[in-house]
Amino acid sequence: MKHTLLLMTICAIASCSEPTPTGNPFFTEWTTPFGVPPFEDLRPEHFRPAFEEGMRQHRAEIDAITANPEPPTFDNVIAAYDRAGELYGRVARVFGALTSAETNAELEEIKAAMSPLQSQHSDAIGLDPALFAKVKAVYDNRATLNAAQQRLTERVYRRFERSGALLSETDKERMRAINEELSSLGVKFESNNREAMNAFRLVVDPRDATGLPSGVVARARTRAEEEKQGDKLVFTLSKPSWIPFLTYSESEPLRRQLYEGYLGQSAEGSQFDNAQVINDMIRLRTDRAHLMGFDSYADFVLDERMAKTPARVYEFLDDIWAPALAKATEERDEMVALKRTETADSTATINSWDWWYYAEKIRKSRYNLDEEQVRPYFALDNVRSGIFKLCNRLYGITFRPIVAPVYHKDVQVYEVLDIDNTHLGVMYMDFFPRAGKGSGAWCGTYRSQGYTPDGTRIAPITNIVCNFTEPTGTTPALLTLDETETFFHEFGHALHNLFADVPYQGLHGTERDFVELPSQIMENWAFAPAMLAEYAIHHRSGEPIPERIVQRINESSMFNQGFMTTELLAASLSDMDIHSQKEYTPFSVADFEKYALTTRRGLIPEIEPRYRYPYFSHIFDGGYSAGYYSYIWAEVLDKDAYEAFVESGDLFSRAVATDFRHKVLAPRGLRDGMDLYRDFRGAEPSREPLFRARGLLPADPAADSLLALVSRDPNTPREPLPDSVLRQILNEGPLVE
Ligand SMILES: [Zn+2]
Repeated sequence: MKHTLLLMTICAIASCSEPTPTGNPFFTEWTTPFGVPPFEDLRPEHFRPAFEEGMRQHRAEIDAITANPEPPTFDNVIAAYDRAGELYGRVARVFGALTSAETNAELEEIKAAMSPLQSQHSDAIGLDPALFAKVKAVYDNRATLNAAQQRLTERVYRRFERSGALLSETDKERMRAINEELSSLGVKFESNNREAMNAFRLVVDPRDATGLPSGVVARARTRAEEEKQGDKLVFTLSKPSWIPFLTYSESEPLRRQLYEGYLGQSAEGSQFDNAQVINDMIRLRTDRAHLMGFDSYADFVLDERMAKTPARVYEFLDDIWAPALAKATEERDEMVALKRTETADSTATINSWDWWYYAEKIRKSRYNLDEEQVRPYFALDNVRSGIFKLCNRLYGITFRPIVAPVYHKDVQVYEVLDIDNTHLGVMYMDFFPRAGKGSGAWCGTYRSQGYTPDGTRIAPITNIVCNFTEPTGTTPALLTLDETETFFHEFGHALHNLFADVPYQGLHGTERDFVELPSQIMENWAFAPAMLAEYAIHHRSGEPIPERIVQRINESSMFNQGFMTTELLAASLSDMDIHSQKEYTPFSVADFEKYALTTRRGLIPEIEPRYRYPYFSHIFDGGYSAGYYSYIWAEVLDKDAYEAFVESGDLFSRAVATDFRHKVLAPRGLRDGMDLYRDFRGAEPSREPLFRARGLLPADPAADSLLALVSRDPNTPREPLPDSVLRQILNEGPLVE
């Protein structure tokens, strides 16, 4: 679902002085508004030569650093390294944005061809002994540098260390081979996913559409028309399509067919099978961790996260798992009871494909809240202007639509003005699903904030890409509550990009388990009554959302939280387990998941993890490997940070927001995430607001041991999966050829 694509490519302002082929926009200055990418002039054939030239220039800039006869200094090594590769970074960002949001066969072919070359290129730099010797010389004398310079020097040094700069020649060779193979496997994983998703369609006769609201039917009919399916209805594996179907369709066999299609994407033995790709990735990631002196890939990854160790992640996830599963089981029992009453069958049970359907029935009866009746108050344009108003109240910034080149006609572009009306940056928004766009929602950058050598600010260009419910011929796009929340979420990432104020490109990166704080904190405002009054206006009548609906939305916020927490934790745990293996043994991905979640942790069969391995793109091609826990980890931070607004007595407090902007958002990677956080809140976050928000605290906390869980010292270690057990289980699974 939600994730952010942060291209950590090195990029700064430098101009291209080489003679280059004409007609390729990458080789000319961009005269577009604010220097945005000239999307309308870009053709697939421009990318390969641009990549090649970008890599060549980058290599030449690195060679100039190593060939410099002057003694190594911060400026001639670290700052020069930070500035190098401007063209390459620019090409990679634009290419990455297009291949995720508007791809085609030609671009995919280029991607598959470029991916190993890019991996070789980055290894050639990361494993260059002459360059590393210079970096180390500056690093060893870093005490004389200012704080930002020291921070950058340490990060660059560490990056080299983690790329294998300290390895023997033989091991470096092995590292190069591993990286190259991993890079191609990532491309393969993603392409299998996309093909599997596109290959599946549930085509339904309108007579079998009982229970489906008219909006859901209208969208499915539009899709059928686009796909030349006559008067049928077409449902796909994209969320805006399958979730409403599972929520409302009265046909259990059809719900089952669609959900099994979703769960079976790229499964073992299917046409676009990812099982071998996953096996190869885990084998290579484990090898890489061993080369680097770590027990497992999770140990290697977490070494530079806030959490630091797998034990600490497990301790955190396990703390929430028991109360979440208990709550989900209660929710399940309630649904079973409802079904038994309805069917007058005292032995009736429910299945995983029934969860949304019965949850919606209970929600409707308990809160009298019907999502389809709520949607008209969440027209996309109204939600967007609500977010604009929120940003204006909090930070004083404003958004102005501009005409700029786009890669698809649906894309909208805004100039963002700072509180003093100066230019802050540019923001792209791309809302609807279509062929060629990956699933989920994310935020990226076309250009990161920076400074030219003469100190001029380079304004960021950021973009959010979503897969929201589309408009139909007669109705504008009406968002679900979940989509509304996602919009706020991605907007938070965009603000993090827009407010960035760091002196060096290498200081943009924040810890992966910190990066969801800026996004998730925005979700807290989405349904606050004062906020709904601002933006939730009926798209036809113009009436504000009735008080009773606001009340029901808020009363129902705890509803189904057991399920939502459990499916999120299940995915987080299955990610940690698969990356915590100390030795690789071929395994069946389905059996591994079953052991990790059902056998070992007692996941109930009515709940599936949010993602199964074969389409868990966050962890196989999205940068969240051993990191999916970050969402719930960051929720501790965001819920606690939001308390600062609550405590101030004003949810829109400009003073608190300004503090948050300058202490948490602007500094990005200038300091460790927890240091930034402590600076803002004066203390480390408490887990209590998270437990409260998810309804996992008992009514009388004193009467329950949960409070002890909440206040437990987070440093208490808890053992991850014992390796001996794991190996035994792995050996039991059928071998993958
Ligand atoms: Zn996110």
